Amino acid sequence: MILVTGGAGYIGSHNVIALLDAGYDVVIFDNLELGHIETVNTLKNINSKGKVVDFIKGDLQNLEDIKSVFQKHKIDAVVHFAAYSQVAESVKNPQKYYFNNVYGTLNLLRAMLENDVKKIVFSSTAATYGEPVYVPIDEKHPQVPINTYGKTKLMIENIMDDYDKAYGLRSVRLRYFNVAGADSKNRVGEWHDPETHLIPNILKSTFSGGKTFQMFGTDYPTKDGTCVRDYINVEDLASAHVLALKYLENGGATNYFNLGTNEGNSVKEVFSACEKVTGKNIPLDVKPRREGDPATLIADNKKAKEDLGWFPEKSLDESISTAYSWESKLTENCKLGV
Ligand code: UDP
Repeated sequence: MILVTGGAGYIGSHNVIALLDAGYDVVIFDNLELGHIETVNTLKNINSKGKVVDFIKGDLQNLEDIKSVFQKHKIDAVVHFAAYSQVAESVKNPQKYYFNNVYGTLNLLRAMLENDVKKIVFSSTAATYGEPVYVPIDEKHPQVPINTYGKTKLMIENIMDDYDKAYGLRSVRLRYFNVAGADSKNRVGEWHDPETHLIPNILKSTFSGGKTFQMFGTDYPTKDGTCVRDYINVEDLASAHVLALKYLENGGATNYFNLGTNEGNSVKEVFSACEKVTGKNIPLDVKPRREGDPATLIADNKKAKEDLGWFPEKSLDESISTAYSWESKLTENCKLGV
């Protein structure tokens, strides 16, 4: 049985599906602050090899909540997503981030150790690298995060190293670049409020009543002046977690991998791709730079390919297309008051 913290959220829910499809039974733990009960209900009803055995509403900041999960179920390994992830908010309110992300993870690790559970796949981030010294960024790139969000994730990575040395708790840390797209069967997708990410924001502005899309900064030292990012499809990302789990099950040592495509797309390129995929002219306002955005972030994903046998398959257009189907569903449900 696999415990998935944050399984009702965007990345967590796609991972639950990947785990079910791989034949794992799953327990979802989520406080539903950012995750959605509708997502949990969808996941419970998925007809797959594995099943969602239980959903437990609880908060990692409450030790008793997470301890109770291990009392109730025999957990073999943990895939840990539950965290806050908004960069700007993390800088304005670091306490919120240190408590939820770091202290919450300490509680989770404590409950794991008390129950002799010693395998964890952890949702880390390219934000642990900070301002790139070179691109593409490989795993040897210095980790000097420039915001509190990135710092919380790096602290957790460091804690996990110490817990391995002292207690033999093995971890795989997956450092995500820009995650995009939705479930190809349109069961789950990106559902944030407020939404800050590029692709959903562009797509939202295609619907009546949507806000004009704001493009932040056209004066970066890049091919067309807009920021370049490495957009990794969420289903491809999920498959890496299943491989990471199998790697730990097969006795693999603590490790860390970048999850990206090795390719960069500018904001303008993503915008054009969205116009192409949706067949719409999308309203656009050019705005000044958003604070804290590095010009270029691209992953070197060789290590994940070599050590995990992971190969991302989906194109940017596929990510946009599935994200668009999902946005259409969200907008429709919103209109219907579902
Ligand atoms: N961006 C934008 N308008 C938006 C949201 C994002 O121009 O409404 C830009 C942002 O400035 C960055 C890129 O799109 O250059 C990717 O931003 P996102 O928030 O999706 O991911 P991040 O790279 O910050 O994790």
